[in-house]
This record gives sequence, C-alpha cells and structure tokens, in this order.
Amino acid sequence: MTTTASTTDSATGTQYAIEILGVTKRYGKITALGGVDLDIEPGEFVVLLGPSGCGKSTLLKIIAGLEDLTEGEVYIGGKLANYLKPSARDVAMVFQNYALYPHMTVRANIGFPLKMAGRPKGEIEQQVAFASGLLQIGSELDKYPDELSGGQRQRVALGRAIVRQPLAFLMDEPLSNLDALLRVQMRSELLRLHKRVGRTTVYVTHDQIEAMTMADRVVVMRNGLIQQIGPPDEVYRRPANRFVASFVGSPPMNILDGRIETADGRRRFAGPIPVEIPGLAGATLDDGPAAIGIRSEELVLTGVGTAGSFPAVIELVEPVGADIFLTATVEGGAIITIRVDAETNVAEGENVQVSIAPGAIRVFDGAGDRVRLTSDAA
Ligand code: ADP
Repeated sequence: MTTTASTTDSATGTQYAIEILGVTKRYGKITALGGVDLDIEPGEFVVLLGPSGCGKSTLLKIIAGLEDLTEGEVYIGGKLANYLKPSARDVAMVFQNYALYPHMTVRANIGFPLKMAGRPKGEIEQQVAFASGLLQIGSELDKYPDELSGGQRQRVALGRAIVRQPLAFLMDEPLSNLDALLRVQMRSELLRLHKRVGRTTVYVTHDQIEAMTMADRVVVMRNGLIQQIGPPDEVYRRPANRFVASFVGSPPMNILDGRIETADGRRRFAGPIPVEIPGLAGATLDDGPAAIGIRSEELVLTGVGTAGSFPAVIELVEPVGADIFLTATVEGGAIITIRVDAETNVAEGENVQVSIAPGAIRVFDGAGDRVRLTSDAA
C-alpha cells in the first residue's frame, strides 16, 4: 500500500490531503458550522473533538459528501470536492453503527466495496486477506455479522474501509458502541493500524481521552466553530480559551475568576487565591474581569510558610488508581481540584497548604481567551 496521497493543485497550492475553506452549514435557522477552516496533512490522524451538537459529524459528513455545504470549499487530494458524489471522493467512512450487511459473510462484507467497483476476484481475495490479517479477524471470514462480538463487527467495518485503499478514512465515533474495556483495546488497535497503514484519518469523538491518546492534532469545536487546533499536549497545556481548558483534561483545568488590577504601577490578579504571575506586567490585557487556570497536577500540597502558598480545606478524597483527586475549598469558598499521588496521606476535613508549580498559571481575559504572558515559552 502507498502510505500517503496528495496533489498540489488545491486552492493554496500546498500538499494537503484534505483542505476545508470557510465552510458553513445551515439547517434552516440552525447554524451547524459557522465558518470552518482546516488543513489536514497527508497521513495525519486528526480528531474532531467537542460536545454533542458542536458540528463534528456535520463537518465529517461534508467531507464525505453525505451532506451538502452551504458555503465554502472542500478539497480532497487537492481536487475541489464540493460537487463530487461520495463515491467519487476517495474517502471511506466508518460509522459507530457498523452498517454491515447481515445476510453477507464477513468475507463478503469486507470485499463488498471492491466487488461494487468491479475489481477482479483475485484482487478482492488478496485485499480481504490483507485487511482481515491486519485486523486479526482472518478466522472469522465465513461467519455472519450476528455471530460476531461488537469488537469484531467494528473490525469488519474497518476492514471494509481498508480494502478500498482510500486517500482518507473518516470515522464517526467508531468506538462509542463498545464497552469500556473493548473501547480501550480498540483504541490502541486503531492506532497500531494507523501506524501500519499510515492513511490520513479524520476521527470524530466527544471523548477527550480518545482525542488525547489518538490524535496527531486535535480540533476542538464548539457551537459550529473551531476553538483550537493543535497537538494534544499543546491543547492541554496551552488552551486557547476557557472552553478548551475546561473541555480538555480530566479533571478539567481549575479556573478561578477574579480581576486584573493595577495599583502603584503594578499589575496583579486579585482573586480567590494569592498568586504571583510572572509575565503579567508585559501582557496585553486591560484591568477588569479575568480568570486564572491551573491544572490539578500543578497544585502541590506543601508546608505552612511556603512562599506563595495558600490554605485550603479538603472536602473530598477520590482515589483513581495511581492518583488521588482532592476537591478542596479555599478561603472565600472557591473550589479547586488537586491531583496527588496515591501514596499521599490526606483525609476529608483536613486543613492543607497548597502551592502552585512554577509557570503553571494561565490567564484568561474577560472574553475567556487565554492571554499570552511574556513568560510563556515561544
Ligand atoms: P455533533 O456531531 O458535534 O454532535 P452535529 O454535527 O450532529 O453535532 O450537529 C450540529 C448541529 O446541527 C446541531 O445543532 C444539530 O442539531 C444540527 N443538525 C444536524 N443535522 C441536522 C439535520 N439533518 N437537520 C437539522 N439540524 C441538524
């Protein structure tokens, strides 16, 4: 199999596998997509992430050609795809409900797209053998879908996409019908598959753990708009705004509301906990409402008297395997979550002292956008 495919005659002359330019989609008065731009590199695994109703599936269906767009352009393999039928787009869609043909064997289900395309029998057999070997369902080829487990059915659906050797796979929550354990297993299988087949993949999920573990780049969406595009680590560490900070990561980032104030020529954040924010002085930010964000693992239990630390009362102790999540209240009533390791000896009702890891504080302006601090890494 070739691993990537692209051409250079797209709108911008660059080598994107898929290019989405100013795409909007309206259903009557509902704006499902409010102007989306997204470039996907050949071989990339891109995850569209966001809450239910944010437009992920609509965007995927527009790429697949299963839905018309209202405005904008979609290029696939460098070719304008707006007017191409789904079958002419060189993409293969994998749905959450596997859409297998119940009266056909696994072999026939997997080979079906090639049969429809009139490929020779030998080639179909070869491709089915290749895909079923890759997916470890080679011994199930003579079974019917209702004789398979959920995980096996999902593999058959994937097999049917693989034999087509499309330019891109489009996957709409493909694991959401599986139980938790199988989901984790299929997640790593899909990733292994991606590494072997190396094909551009656009993957829709509302599950941020799926997104964080699978994506080369995550596209965080909300209300039909892209909030941020970036590698999982960047989206986690440097969220573009409060929405991304609270949607990505479990537990969500601690966000504490307060105000930016300037007194005696010094700018500070006045809020529920005392903080020193290096880099705030030179940041582009007016006095007024603002918030700070700190990840739970960037809060540290410390001793009384530690510079910059503040007191808190532990309200809830939740062990989660290797970590414990502590819910604590600070003076004034704000609630924070602190992640400590499982060995930590701490009890509900206990008074603790908390400090903040260096460089951990993000600042969000009154509109909720993250403010670039002069201390931020480039
Ligand atoms: P997601 O996949 O993120 O859950 P969708 O793309 O399915 O979101 O939907 C985005 C928005 O468009 C939602 O408000 C949804 O109700 C609306 N929508 C989706 N499909 C249709 C349709 N066929 N008719 C009317 N509204 C739709």
